[in-house]
This record gives sequence, structure tokens and C-alpha cells, in this order.
Amino acid sequence: MRRVLNTESFDVMVIGGGPSGLFTSSLLSQNGIKTVLIEKDSEIGKDVVCSGVISKEAFSRYDLPENAIVGTLKDAELHSPGGIQIPYSHPQETVVVVDRHKFDGELGKSAVQNGTHIMLSSRVSSLSVKENFVEAEVKTPDGLKIINSKMAVIATGVSFNLQASLGMGRPKKIIKGIQVEVQADDVNKLKVYWGNKVSNGYFGWAIPLHDGRTRIGVMTDGNAQEGLNHILKDVGQYTNICNDIGRIKRRGISFGTIDKSYSDRIVAVGEAAGLVKTTTGGGIYYGLISAEIASNVIQEAFQKDDFSSRFLSKYEKLWKNELGNEIKLGKYFHKFYSKLNDNSIDTLFDAAKKDGLLSFISEQGKFDWHKNAVLKILKSPNLRKALLWESINNAREKIAL
Ligand SMILES: Cc1cc2nc3c(=O)[nH]c(=O)nc-3n(C[C@H](O)[C@H](O)[C@H](O)COP(=O)(O)OP(=O)(O)OC[C@H]3O[C@@H](n4cnc5c(N)ncnc54)[C@H](O)[C@@H]3O)c2cc1C
Repeated sequence: MRRVLNTESFDVMVIGGGPSGLFTSSLLSQNGIKTVLIEKDSEIGKDVVCSGVISKEAFSRYDLPENAIVGTLKDAELHSPGGIQIPYSHPQETVVVVDRHKFDGELGKSAVQNGTHIMLSSRVSSLSVKENFVEAEVKTPDGLKIINSKMAVIATGVSFNLQASLGMGRPKKIIKGIQVEVQADDVNKLKVYWGNKVSNGYFGWAIPLHDGRTRIGVMTDGNAQEGLNHILKDVGQYTNICNDIGRIKRRGISFGTIDKSYSDRIVAVGEAAGLVKTTTGGGIYYGLISAEIASNVIQEAFQKDDFSSRFLSKYEKLWKNELGNEIKLGKYFHKFYSKLNDNSIDTLFDAAKKDGLLSFISEQGKFDWHKNAVLKILKSPNLRKALLWESINNAREKIAL
């Protein structure tokens, strides 16, 4: 027979202490809702695998910890598989890089100041919806605990067992992510790499930080280690990076949303709902946006005393209004991009130069909102023409064989 230590009750339990869960619990506590946040790790932000790139837009929309900023990105160098390099800079927008340990830790401090009770080293192993409450079984260092609350927020990141057990589904695909931090002498701008040697379907990066370190990583459907080695070699041609290579870390990235981000007495926020940019894999800002929307809807649910799936569907409607088209178009773009071979990607780079795509993107593009840039790329006349020629040539070669 299982031994249960004791049962505690709250208004809301938030499961997962990443940015999405911490921000949701902070906003709820600030508004007088008795909230517990349950995190499986022993420390907030410990061992997070993330490049930490966030737009200034996120910092101006929300009160985020500026003391976690460890890098500033203004200029970039875009690398095609065939060696075409395009310099890129955005006249106004600045993007920053944060230390996630510090960033998440500071969000945690604000949540506690606002009244959130945080349980660390505590993993929710199951979640069930009863008639008037939600019940979680929590494995703690002292043994099994039962936590009850009127509502639960699932903020578990790229971990979908709880959502699946409640019929909310999982994303259709998880992309492989890999990253390492190296000491690199003179990487002074962001480098982004495309092509099959680096990534199958996505891209790789080298992100300089203020203190001379560089984050090198890849997101891919293919062999992540090979992609990483390719970038390490490229960066190593220009700079001394071999003396201090950190631990290589891996983590999945959700691609596409789960079937349903709400159920009776439950909502899922951030990456736990698949709310990640389908173009770049960035999930911090979309997670914060969903946290804000969720906390508003949950407060309304308490005012109306209505925790039904019908009422909570409002949450999904609201995040879809803001993020839905971006996520959909990014998926569409990925479908198109993943069919391109290295020659076609070079063609895309050429077209970017000829059709003024880059000046369009640097004038009108936004770091977090890619819909207009994606449409512009897909409509590029030179790109269409070149890709058509290439598919004709490929077909000719196949026939000749
Ligand atoms: C290599 C790589 C680079 C990336 N770079 C960027 C970037 O530059 N910019 C960006 O915006 N995004 C980036 N991302 C994505 C970003 O890291 C995530 O989208 C973001 O962390 C999601 O935040 P979250 O709060 O939703 O989930 P998470 O930050 O994943 O937090 C979830 C928390 O839930 C806890 N948890 C899970 N299951 C349980 C359970 N059963 N019980 C209790 N606790 C649980 C976990 O321990 C974790 O602390 C990157 C991802 C990868 C892999």
C-alpha cells in the first residue's frame, strides 16, 4: 500500500518552474490567488539547455530581469551551405541573450515575493480531475505527497505525459536541440548556419556573449552532433576556441501545438502547450505571453466560479488570436524549407540578395513575428523562378540516369 505523507490544498497548482510556469504563478499570486509551484529540479533554472535569445520587445512588454543579460546581438552573418555569407543588421531592433539560470532564478524570486509557495525537488507523477478539484501525486524527497487545488496549470516544458494522460495530446514532432559553450576569442556577431551539413530542416548558430564565451548550437531532425562539429570547425578557423569547451547539452524542442491546451480545471502554458516559434524554436517570449493570458482567464474563472472546459476554452481562443497564425505559417514555411537541398538553399540566399528580401526583413521584420517575412520569402519571384529551374534540372538528371 502506498504511504501518503499529507494532503495540502491551494487555489492553483502550477507544475513546472520554467519562465512560463514562474510567470503564471507570479501573476496569479499577485492577484490574491493562493498558488503553489511544483518543480522537479532542486533549483530553479538549474541545467536549462537554451541559448537565451530574447527580443527587447519582451523586455519592454514585461518586467523581466535585466541583470540576467549576458549578451547583446545587433549584427549577424548568415551562412549558406555553399559558402555565401550575407551580413545582416537591423536598424532599430536589438536582441539580448540571457543567462537562463539567473533569468529563471529572478522570475522565481518575484513569484515568491508575490506570494507563490515553491516546492523544489518535487515531481508530479500523475494528475487527475475530480468533481470539485484537481489532485496531483507528487514525489518529494520525503515521500509521496498529495496536492489538491481548484485548478492546475501544466508548465512542464518539453514533457507531455500529464497532458497526454488528460487527453490533451502531444506535439506531432520534437526537434533535436544541442548546444555547447566555448571560450572563443573574436566572435563578435551572431552567425547563423543553414544547409544539410549543419541541420536537417532547421539551422545552427554561434552566439557571442559579453565575456568572450560563445554559445554554439544546432536544432535539427538529423544528426545533431555532426551539425555541431561542423560549426565548431567553421568558427575554429577564425578564432581560438579549443582551450575551453564546456559540456555538450541536449534537449528536445516542441514543434507545433498540442491538440487542446485546456480541459476541465486545467490549462497548459508555454512549451507544455507547444507554444514555441515554429521558425526558430524560441519559446521564452511565447511562453510569457501565454502565461499572461492564462493568468487573466484563471482569475476570471475564480470570479465566476466556473472552471469548466467550456469556460477555459477562452484561453486557447485568446492565445490563438495572438500566436496562432505565426505558428501555422512557420509550420508551412518549414514544410517548404525542409524539401530544399543545399543548392536550393544557396538559391534562396541569392534570391534574398536580388529580391531585396533582406532589406525588407531588416526594415519590417521583427524578431518575434515572422509572418510577413515568411510570406515575402514564399512570394519571391527570383526564388520561385530559380527553384523551378532547379527542379527541372533535377528531373532531367534523374531521367538521364
Ligand atoms: C538548444 C536550445 C536552444 C534554445 N534557445 C532558445 C532561445 O534562444 N530563445 C528562446 O526563446 N527559446 C529557446 N529555446 C527554447 C526554450 O528553452 C524553451 O521553449 C523554454 O524554456 C520554454 O519555457 P517553459 O517555461 O515553457 O518550459 P521549461 O523552461 O522547459 O520549464 C519546464 C519546467 O518544468 C519542470 N518539470 C517538467 N516536468 C515536471 C513534472 N512532472 N513535475 C514537476 N516539474 C516538472 C522542468 O524541470 C522545468 O524546470 C531553446 C531550446 C533548446 C533546446
